[in-house]
Amino acid sequence: MAIERTLSIIKPDAVAKNVIGQIYSRFEGAGLKVIAARMMHLSRNDAEAFYGVHRERPFFKDLVEFMISGPVMVQALEGEGAILKNRDLMGATDPKKAAAGTIRADFADSIDANAVHGSDAPETAAVEIAFFFPGMSIHSR
Ligand code: UDP
Repeated sequence: MAIERTLSIIKPDAVAKNVIGQIYSRFEGAGLKVIAARMMHLSRNDAEAFYGVHRERPFFKDLVEFMISGPVMVQALEGEGAILKNRDLMGATDPKKAAAGTIRADFADSIDANAVHGSDAPETAAVEIAFFFPGMSIHSR
């Protein structure tokens, strides 16, 4: 399988629960390497731009409010099949439907406060990594 990169966000609910390390352990346990990381408090503009694809959805306003409600931890992950691997680790969008042992099953409270984001395809991964790590040379390791 090809080595890929994907963009991951530990959302404000999971940062507030102090489980960044536990979530990083899951990445590492699955063979994903953290190759770039930054903790930040998103501006409204950042959150609206990042989730622009959902602008017309009924949950957009609440999603933006949630994403700016506290700091987030943003990382680029690298590894074999990283995009799908990260999606598998995350579990379904709705934690009630997420498989046992997934990040969302274990750490998320609701479909809107659902602990993590992960890119869903190579194209979005490239755009999302450039959004948060613009112009940075990210090193494989
Ligand atoms: N979301 C929400 N309500 C919904 C669907 C989605 O609040 O009914 C939020 C949720 O935080 C989700 C994000 O919007 O993670 C993006 O939705 P998407 O369908 O892309 O899910 P994901 O790729 O994050 O699993």
